[in-house]
Amino acid sequence: MTFTPDKIEEFNHLVTAASKIIITAHKSPDGDSIGSSLALYHYLKNEHENVVICHPDKAPHFLNWLTGFDEIETYEESPEKIENHFIEADLIFCLDYNSPGRIGKMDDLLEKSSAKKIMIDHHRDPNVEFVDLMFSDHTICSTAQMIFELIEARQTLFQIDQAIAESIYTGIITDTGSFRFSSVTPKTHEIGAFLINKGLSHSKIHEAIFDNNSENRVKLTSFAMLEKLVVLKEFNVGYISLSANDLDRFDAKKGDTEGLVNQVLSLEGVKMAVFFKESDGIIKISMRSQGEIPVNNLARNNFHGGGHLNAAGGKFVGKLEDAIQKFVTILPKFVEENKSVF
Ligand code: 5GP
Ligand code: MN
Repeated sequence: MTFTPDKIEEFNHLVTAASKIIITAHKSPDGDSIGSSLALYHYLKNEHENVVICHPDKAPHFLNWLTGFDEIETYEESPEKIENHFIEADLIFCLDYNSPGRIGKMDDLLEKSSAKKIMIDHHRDPNVEFVDLMFSDHTICSTAQMIFELIEARQTLFQIDQAIAESIYTGIITDTGSFRFSSVTPKTHEIGAFLINKGLSHSKIHEAIFDNNSENRVKLTSFAMLEKLVVLKEFNVGYISLSANDLDRFDAKKGDTEGLVNQVLSLEGVKMAVFFKESDGIIKISMRSQGEIPVNNLARNNFHGGGHLNAAGGKFVGKLEDAIQKFVTILPKFVEENKSVF
């Protein structure tokens, strides 16, 4: 059990004692970091006057319909305002990440702050040192589900309104491929059922998230698949790469390449998919796998990253071709070491 009575008591104490609360989440926000941040934000506002969401960078456009989206403040857009929030805060929530390095340039502010810190996260191997209270469970599919379980453990499910319900549902579906990954449990479906019983329109949310693509985004996806896909049949691996030029050509916006790596994994015979993206002068690497293939190990050991068994990421400083070259070079050994699951 993650949300034990003694930890909930400590949680209550920290929230009651705080005069200003800030909610942080990882860099390059996704549906779960945004969904869990907004869910917690709306929820805490019932009992606290001074709650602010401080994220490293802007959320992707495809989430802009979520209630409270415009209230999210970012370091990217207004660093001084965020610095002030950190100075004033005496309680900081760390959502959907488990080490300070995941919040980009805000890591200094976090580490210098004397505020109490509460982690709510579902990634493996948490850094326990930087927080005062930790809710960490890598068996839970999403941080959004953890927010639901927190609300449940505090016996305040009656406070779940439309805004909270939509935020939680968004986090769950974006982190589970719409209820399909192995991280989904009966509990996840029970939460879905609870939210729908509360009046949530699940089809409306799926449409808002998945049926709102710009023409450029669809063309970028098509370009990537047609021109950039490489399948290494002997290894059951597929990868694609997009340079900054490619992204410019299709006027790519934040979030436009989200899900691309999963499409590579959808290929028959491909059990592991990788996506290399040149962005902000570095190469961002996304990995996905099927079954027991541990892409988190590959990311951690070679690309300064980490993540989950089936979804991980990391980075490479250098040229796009060199990142790909490094990957192709280490691949045979990785496949050999994990032969039984490939
Ligand atoms: P994505 O491919 O969607 O960017 O990331 C998938 C998962 O990989 C994330 O949920 C996160 O757990 C992990 N991840 C991505 N990038 C990094 C990184 O740079 N460092 C670490 N530690 N994990 C990452
Ligand atoms: Mn997550």
